[in-house]
Amino acid sequence: MPSHDHAASYRFCPVCGDRLESRLLKAGDPERLVCVGCRYVLYLDPKVAVGTIIAMEDDRIVLVRRAINPGYGRWVFPGGYVDRGEMVSVAAVREAREEAGLEIRLDGLVSIYSYAGRPPIIIVYAATATAGDLAHDDESLEIRTFSEAEIPWDELAFSSTREALRDYLAGVLHPHCR
Ligand SMILES: [Zn+2]
Repeated sequence: MPSHDHAASYRFCPVCGDRLESRLLKAGDPERLVCVGCRYVLYLDPKVAVGTIIAMEDDRIVLVRRAINPGYGRWVFPGGYVDRGEMVSVAAVREAREEAGLEIRLDGLVSIYSYAGRPPIIIVYAATATAGDLAHDDESLEIRTFSEAEIPWDELAFSSTREALRDYLAGVLHPHCR
């Protein structure tokens, strides 16, 4: 999942268009971008992403090989950013349909992954394919299924891909909220 941090490139206030300046507002907090004109504080929120580890009927796992950076040419399970106002579980189902051509049933939450200094928070579900035919979109070079023994651990796209697959294979799922 992409992890661009645009903090350094925000220069103008989204409210009044005046210049943004980096300022320490509260001891212990990170510096904030503050408008020199209207004093608006532009908080840089995390980005929420969702990924889904999908098992096929034969228990093989679906991975796609990325056609975009970051992680070009490397393998990841289907996923993407959650839109503002979109339920996370709905985003998971949408991404599986868009990126893998599959209808899925969510079976539970694998875990939630986040990393110091990185904007994304990645929520990963376990799911089972219920219909559809494997088909990737233009964000991937290739789609295929892997048995546990075939998972390309050295060619996975992100730390969260590796950690979530490891957690999934350990077999502990959490109930998920709707
Ligand atoms: Zn302003």
